[in-house]
Amino acid sequence: MPNRRALVAGLAFGFAAAATPFGAFAQDSAQAKLPVVASFSILGDFARQIGGDRISVTTLVGPDGDAHVYSPTPGDAKAMAGAKLVLVNGLHFEGWLPRLVKSSGTKATLAEATKGITPLEVDDDHDDKDKGGHAHAHGHDDPHAWQSIANAKVYVANIRDALSAADPAGKASYEANATAYLAELDRLEGEVKAAIARIPAERRKAITTHDAFGYFVKAYGVAFIAPQGVSTEAEASARDVARIIRQVKAQKIPAVFLENVTNPRLVEQIARESGAKVGGRLYSDALSAATGPAGTYIRMMKHNISEIEKALTAGPA
Ligand SMILES: [Zn+2]
Repeated sequence: MPNRRALVAGLAFGFAAAATPFGAFAQDSAQAKLPVVASFSILGDFARQIGGDRISVTTLVGPDGDAHVYSPTPGDAKAMAGAKLVLVNGLHFEGWLPRLVKSSGTKATLAEATKGITPLEVDDDHDDKDKGGHAHAHGHDDPHAWQSIANAKVYVANIRDALSAADPAGKASYEANATAYLAELDRLEGEVKAAIARIPAERRKAITTHDAFGYFVKAYGVAFIAPQGVSTEAEASARDVARIIRQVKAQKIPAVFLENVTNPRLVEQIARESGAKVGGRLYSDALSAATGPAGTYIRMMKHNISEIEKALTAGPA
């Protein structure tokens, strides 16, 4: 279903682009840094880690922003028009992007960071499932692949290769930066696995607002259940919420988590009506501001696993 807000925004910046002389971009190219656009904050961080000071990164959906339902601005169209490389997640995460590419007239190369990752298939239609046992669901790909660190390494390799192709003179630098960063990701993955191992097996389960942790669940073995599907576009139904409250009680799920990109109301209601405690805030689809607890991907994953361990280890089931 087309997103009406995106449609209106598309028209609005079409206007702005027509009214702005493209000569304004000449300033940017004088810096001689490779102009890169990243669709959301996690990709922006990966690009900076690998590109270093050879590139200048513009992130479209910024800290704490929800890329599922984003409405591009005239500034985004301008950044796209001036970019040599545009990094996107893919797997239909950025539904608003094709229109932005078109309206901006960008000639940049588009690189999908999830290229080569095997997507998880999800069925978003909880209500249908409740009505009983249909075999064929509206299966589609879960876009939140970055929540597995093994996948994050694929993102990094794809971004390294895309930067090298866009700026061959920087190839050695991008490769060195990527190699160092991949080693950090290896250490990070070791820390996450060790933290999960410290949580008693029967307590490795929690509630989040939207289904953003499918890859984390598969990689690390903590069950996350969410009233909202893999996109924040559709609201959770009262029926889904009631089902989850029953599930929390029946399965003694220790904690519910807030997310930085979703409204806390739903999860607070589930906590209130089920008796589960509210754990911390997890960063699912966006980083925090640089000064916050999750200003980079590595800090985000460390913050999340620390909150998960704290909430699931302590207290009554
Ligand atoms: Zn999401």
